[in-house]
Amino acid sequence: MCSQPPKVNDEGGCIEECLRLIPLIDRETAALGVTGGEPTLEPEGMLSIVRASKAFLPETALHVLSNGRMFAYLSLARALGAIRHPDLVVGVPLHSDLVHQHDWIAQRCGAFYQTVRGIVNLRRCGIDVEVRVVIHNLNVNRLLGIAEFIARNMPFVRQVAMMGMESIGLARRNLDLLWVDPYDYRRTLRDAVEYLTQRRMRVVIYNHQLCTLDHELWRYCCMSISDWKREYLPICAECAVRTRCGGFFAAGVTRHSEHIHPQDFEDES
Ligand code: SF4
Repeated sequence: MCSQPPKVNDEGGCIEECLRLIPLIDRETAALGVTGGEPTLEPEGMLSIVRASKAFLPETALHVLSNGRMFAYLSLARALGAIRHPDLVVGVPLHSDLVHQHDWIAQRCGAFYQTVRGIVNLRRCGIDVEVRVVIHNLNVNRLLGIAEFIARNMPFVRQVAMMGMESIGLARRNLDLLWVDPYDYRRTLRDAVEYLTQRRMRVVIYNHQLCTLDHELWRYCCMSISDWKREYLPICAECAVRTRCGGFFAAGVTRHSEHIHPQDFEDES
């Protein structure tokens, strides 16, 4: 189901290229993302990129996206923690609070326990974690259960990101299975966010269009889609909140909510 699955083509040399690039990046860059595929499949490479980022871009936040499973090995979490990067967050997806459902979505037996152990190990080693819940038709009925699981078992995470799905990679191939209109789960999402915030957990909502959500949720929404892959529909031109709406993934703009409608005023709720 992954939007960014590992590719079969040879990506040898990619880490060396990153290591050559990092010293050339503007030192005032606010944030840098390390994604894959799965960066921990090349553990030494990932560690060298984090070390180089700390050395050449000490003021730049570093966001590593990982399925978290390799951090079930405490040695890897320790090696990452030992770098002592000043502003590192590892974003890890949790697909469900149910073991079999998480494993089914990840398409790997044992993934749930490895991911949960990985998250705990990361925090044990002083690394901040963002738990990412990518919402789709296979887990939308568990949103509140996932929120409860996180609040009870991982109250230490830096934040919980409730995310709309990017329909590329394997997600695009399985779109009929995965698609759910965000408007249809807006109430469940509101309940899950409320549950987490009442327990003093920080929540952000990524990749959602404001008009598909209840106004109470707008304050949690971020402009999370990179500008080079963000698009809007022609009707968005009339919308009063376009400048604060996250828009659509360019790749997913052909399949979108049936409830996209321009807003008449800037709601400050
Ligand atoms: S109409 Fe377009 S710009 Fe306005 S909230 Fe909806 S998606 Fe965003």
